[in-house]
Amino acid sequence: MILVLKPKIEEDRIAELIHTLEDGHIRVERTKGVDYTILALIGDTRSVNEGTIHNSNIVHRIIHVQEPYKQANRLFHPDNTEVKIGDCSIGGGDFAVIAGPCSVESEEQILTVAREVKRSGAKFLRGGAFKPRTSPYSFQGLGAEGLDLLKIAKAETGLYIVSEILSNDWLDRFVLDVDIIQVGARNMQNFSLLKELGRLDKPIILKRGLSATIEEWLMSAEYIMSEGNRKVILCERGIRTFETYTRNTFDISAIPMIKHYSHLPVIADPSHATGQWWMVEPLVKASVVVGADGVMVEVHPNPEKALCDGAQSLNLEGYRKMMNEIHSLTGRSM
Ligand code: PEP
Ligand code: MN
Repeated sequence: MILVLKPKIEEDRIAELIHTLEDGHIRVERTKGVDYTILALIGDTRSVNEGTIHNSNIVHRIIHVQEPYKQANRLFHPDNTEVKIGDCSIGGGDFAVIAGPCSVESEEQILTVAREVKRSGAKFLRGGAFKPRTSPYSFQGLGAEGLDLLKIAKAETGLYIVSEILSNDWLDRFVLDVDIIQVGARNMQNFSLLKELGRLDKPIILKRGLSATIEEWLMSAEYIMSEGNRKVILCERGIRTFETYTRNTFDISAIPMIKHYSHLPVIADPSHATGQWWMVEPLVKASVVVGADGVMVEVHPNPEKALCDGAQSLNLEGYRKMMNEIHSLTGRSM
């Protein structure tokens, strides 16, 4: 952190600020230019209280040299993180496909999709049991029954289960029955939930918030990691922009950007990013090309009848076609 001081500040006031800042973790190096004096804070500046700096009334500008996230930062962990889930992993070179309906609706529905996902060679089944709907009158998910049905699908197919948690109240149940806990876009900054998830030994998919910057998103990952859980997988799912032809705007640049700044795996969700099933396959291919570690896609046996997100769900045929494309593009295992 660099502090640019206001011009013509008395020596004793500078000395007083330096004295306040140097607390054992921080060393202050001072440079005097023609017009400005600069203080460079060296050490772990996480605990520096910027309020104290502003209140001193002698600082013109604070410049952050390093990103505020540490555990998620590639600078401190140059190698890619590989998150292990049973005999699979995400971020270790395979291209992970997480597929399934937006919501679990019935045993027949989830088993039909699960069998297709299994047949295609993918290893992860998604399905929402608790749905964060914009309207309280929309289908809210089957709740605990949805988790029971996912368990049945896992018992038959061996697929790993991905499902979204909405509140701390369900943590114990998710720990038992879900292999990767998903934090949805709307909960990306639910800090009490993130802290609880940070105390688990469980992979977490952290979706990007509706209007979150990349730094805010990485700070949310930091909330989980700072509690001890390093198994975080980031998911780009589109952000709010002025554009209305797509449900969100797929920020494909976020994928290489995350790879640049962080060691965490990153996957893409073109279903929620676009809201349109026919855009899913081309954007899955684009995600492969820009270096995503996998994708999450919504699949429904009968999208016209889906209780949630039918317009963006691939039918089984569309899903099969997409998988063939991924296979020929990557040649990687899943
Ligand atoms: C979902 O995955 O079903 C979902 C609600 O996604 P998001 O949080 O990205 O909107
Ligand atoms: Mn959905």
